[in-house]
Amino acid sequence: MKPADFPPPFDLDELFTEPTDPPDERIDVGILIVGGGPAGLAAAIRAGQLLQERPELAERLGEVPICVVEKGKAPGSHVLSGAVVNPRGMQLLFPGMPAAEMPFAGLVEHEAVYFLTHKRSLRIPMPPQMRNDRNYFVSLSRLSRWLAERAEELGATIVPETAAVKLLVSGGRVVGVRTGDRGRGRAGETLPKFEPGSDIRARVTILAEGTLGHLTRGAIEQFDLGGSPQVYALGVKEVWEVEKPLVPIIHTIGWPLRMGRRDREFGGSFIYPMGDNLVSLGMVVGLDHADPALSVHDLLQQLKTHPRVYQILKGGKRIAWGAKTIPEGGFQALPRRLNFPGGMIVGDAAGFVNVPALKGIHYAMESARLAAEAAVEAAGPGATSWTPGQLESYDEAIRDSFIWKDLRRERNLRPAFQHGFFMGSALAGLSTVTLGHIPPRDLRVEPDAEAELHSPGRRSYPRPDGTLTFDKLSSVFASGNRTRDDAPSHIRIRQHVPRRLAEAWVHMCPAQVYAIPEAEQGDLVRVEVTASNCVQCGAITAKGGRLTLPEGGDGPEYTVMLGLEVEAEYRPYLDGGPSGMDDDAGAER
Ligand SMILES: Cc1cc2nc3c(=O)[nH]c(=O)nc-3n(C[C@H](O)[C@H](O)[C@H](O)COP(=O)(O)OP(=O)(O)OC[C@H]3O[C@@H](n4cnc5c(N)ncnc54)[C@H](O)[C@@H]3O)c2cc1C
Ligand code: SF4
Repeated sequence: MKPADFPPPFDLDELFTEPTDPPDERIDVGILIVGGGPAGLAAAIRAGQLLQERPELAERLGEVPICVVEKGKAPGSHVLSGAVVNPRGMQLLFPGMPAAEMPFAGLVEHEAVYFLTHKRSLRIPMPPQMRNDRNYFVSLSRLSRWLAERAEELGATIVPETAAVKLLVSGGRVVGVRTGDRGRGRAGETLPKFEPGSDIRARVTILAEGTLGHLTRGAIEQFDLGGSPQVYALGVKEVWEVEKPLVPIIHTIGWPLRMGRRDREFGGSFIYPMGDNLVSLGMVVGLDHADPALSVHDLLQQLKTHPRVYQILKGGKRIAWGAKTIPEGGFQALPRRLNFPGGMIVGDAAGFVNVPALKGIHYAMESARLAAEAAVEAAGPGATSWTPGQLESYDEAIRDSFIWKDLRRERNLRPAFQHGFFMGSALAGLSTVTLGHIPPRDLRVEPDAEAELHSPGRRSYPRPDGTLTFDKLSSVFASGNRTRDDAPSHIRIRQHVPRRLAEAWVHMCPAQVYAIPEAEQGDLVRVEVTASNCVQCGAITAKGGRLTLPEGGDGPEYTVMLGLEVEAEYRPYLDGGPSGMDDDAGAER
């Protein structure tokens, strides 16, 4: 039994619409960026830098030359904190800026990898891909906020709490996005605070939606951009205030995951310092595993009981929690083409992640920098972003970039682990020492929803004690989730599915969104959905359902959990915001 046999009630056509707002109601912008993560903000910064050098072009792009729409409360709200970043993306975006001026928390100086068994840990040699020489610790939400400030200084307009829910398509090309309505009730009825969405028309649209991007997946299908299937891992992360500073960064493999080929449990953990008294730790596990009882949230709780991990957290306090998927397919799963008539795809949305290194931030920023350069050219006189070949320069720049070189070299590491831990390690080792030449052919991955689910394994997760280990609901609370209880459900799944699939969803979801009512006794069961718990990690889309876009501003608030307040200036831009640059943003110039 596999999840793909029970597709969600979702029609791709829902993602596209012709522009409908009359000219005096719509919003016209120059370069539109969907998503205010590291990629979207880097695109805004690079476009701003280039427009500063070309004031006549900036003028031509009107009142809003660069616009970033972000569904979170503020840039950084929906990105998970506590990362180790390769500074290359920042250095290329801000040439000459010393690292001391960048919002990094410190240089990685020591690191270690351990193979864990139930009670023991064995330090093993550091695989070269995982080395972090000259990399920095960073809070990703803090980095996003810092990037947002730079983008605004360069003239970008950031519109938070705004979900882009449809691509505006006219004449076979993307001419912007439709933003979502706000203030609808559970059955879709309008509430007193109802605000309809708007058309935002743009000369170029950059999709920087991150993992499992909703509109991105639509664009890939609509314009036939796809390559081999993408696969995903689910990462669950916590931030702890600890008594003693942690010095080295730590990665672990092995326990509590199972090593067998049949189990297909690929993943591990990371434990990173974030300054003197904070530690970020998480567990990342591929979603192609076979056990319906596997819960990444509970594996992380289990990991914290291991003596090696417990000694770091002892006496400390959990202050934040979050969950998100990561695209893991690597080189083979990149879209065949990254541009389409009217736009481009950047960052995690395109799948630019180096899985063995657990790094995507610098690729996100670099791909976005390159896309912004193509976008500015396409917005210039005599060009349009849908002229055939106009945005091809972006694809070419990616093929010449370090992103391409890195991902090509590592292309067989993740697929190797679909053969189990031991075979995977052997193949991955061979690929590493031969710099990616062996195996010579590209290994393929099977989509997560196509992976067979076996009968549930016996796993004994620790009972939550509220001090070291936590249940899912208290974790959702710690994410700062603010989804309205009376909002329409944004989760699409088949309501009646085989018990085994329902159990897989119940365990997989880190936020306790799915439940099987006790009255359901047969093999085919009804799944109950509490959509307001959802932290938008995306796992359900990978595993047979569909996460659609909730109302802007809903979802987790990872920034607040780190004591960073959402600033007053990030007020909804669309409330009486600018309109009307000129009437023909979609026309050829
Ligand atoms: C557990 C975990 C640990 C990680 N650790 C590291 C690490 O240590 N180092 C590293 O380099 N990388 C790490 N990564 C990967 C890294 O987080 C990503 O590669 C990076 O954030 C990608 O940036 P992005 O801007 O492409 O996407 P994101 O950071 O996901 O940002 C996308 C943004 O778009 C917004 N958005 C999406 N759709 C819409 C829409 N339709 N309308 C409006 N807004 C929208 C989202 O709210 C989000 O803010 C980790 C990832 C995870 C999950
Ligand atoms: S319901 Fe939300 S939180 Fe749960 S798996 Fe799906 S996307 Fe993730």
